[in-house]
Amino acid sequence: MRVESVRGMRDILPEEARLWQALEAEIRSLVELYGYREIRPPLVELAELFSRGVGEATDIVHKEMYVFPDKKGQMLALRPEATASVVRAYIEHGLYAKGDLAKLYYIGPMFRYEKPQKGRQRQFHQYGVEALGSLDPALDAEVIDLAWHLMERVGLSREALVLRLNSIGCREDRPAYREALRSYFSARKDELCSDCQRRLEENPLRILDCKEPQCQSAIAGAPQSLDYLCEGCRKHLEELRGMLGDLGLAYELDPRLVRGIDYYTRTVFELCSRELGAQDALLGGGRYDDLVELLGGPPTPGVGFAGGMERLVLVLSQHRPANTASPALDVYVIPIGEEARKRALAILAQMRRKGVAADLDYMGRSLRKMMSVAARQARYALFLGPDELAQDRLTLKNLASGESRTLPRSEFLAHPQRFLS
Ligand code: AMP
Repeated sequence: MRVESVRGMRDILPEEARLWQALEAEIRSLVELYGYREIRPPLVELAELFSRGVGEATDIVHKEMYVFPDKKGQMLALRPEATASVVRAYIEHGLYAKGDLAKLYYIGPMFRYEKPQKGRQRQFHQYGVEALGSLDPALDAEVIDLAWHLMERVGLSREALVLRLNSIGCREDRPAYREALRSYFSARKDELCSDCQRRLEENPLRILDCKEPQCQSAIAGAPQSLDYLCEGCRKHLEELRGMLGDLGLAYELDPRLVRGIDYYTRTVFELCSRELGAQDALLGGGRYDDLVELLGGPPTPGVGFAGGMERLVLVLSQHRPANTASPALDVYVIPIGEEARKRALAILAQMRRKGVAADLDYMGRSLRKMMSVAARQARYALFLGPDELAQDRLTLKNLASGESRTLPRSEFLAHPQRFLS
């Protein structure tokens, strides 16, 4: 019986993996330019980390998290997101002890048991940044600038993107807002789906994320967090808006934006593509000023974002035609005859040690077949036949121009790159 991959978890095959590698390299080099350093937390954490950090009432924890006991009965989870893990690591390793701003980034797989569709997987990949240790709205502005910059760097135009911004307040003003939502939705309880009726008790803010058509008219008239902000939160938002203006970053103030995670405070934002349809959020983030404390660390504010690799690949593949990739190999070695083949192995090994991407046929192919493989996979073919063996030379053919030249073997192998420009 054939065993297939799990629904919502897919293979990234070599052709596509090249685009992923290029994107990951762009992301790494750009975030490092802004002073972020990589952290690689494990994929498995105690389930409690997310139920406390992300929130028991969120869909991510309540419905989508992969939770399982280990052999000792400890409840573990495949991470559904990485901010809680980064904060756990920050506390566990005392990264705050240096009293400095910690700027950390990650790239890796996340797991959520969602309904798979275009741009939404059960194993998906996120890149993200977290800046821990400052309340300055300039840091929110920097993080948003980084998000924009990243999208531009990978080739998306400003016109194709929209930045949605909101403030959902802090723990000072949250209780009043939560009460306002509770009393508003209680009066419309019959219009709400069964999930939202539960959310009404647990955390009425989560009703605002609901996608059920049934709930939308009640949501449309709900109280807005912007009307409940305390003085500090209002000032933070105004300063941030001024800085985004100074940076020339356009945004839409979206009072409906709450994001599906409980740890957010104050600033929340999403950068969306105008070309993606339903799953249009390329990345999302915001402030989480209480999370470090909630997870047992000293009071430390934070701000960051996470973006989906799959969605980035989707929009980029709409822009870039497939298969414009250059050949994977520099050189394909074509020996003619048994003796030449034996020698070819050593030549191949020497080229690779000089940093040349090179390969050879292992399938017993005919000369004609080897030529066609070379044409598909390499920039140059290197022929080694009886004449070359007799003279201790090699014939190098440029497969794009068709030009050939014969060179002394030792001269070529001393500096192969010189001949492969
Ligand atoms: P979140 O962690 O929910 O704030 O999501 C941040 C970003 O991750 C989203 O804007 C998407 O780009 C991406 N993302 C979230 N969930 C998925 C998923 N199931 N499949 C693919 N990408 C996702």
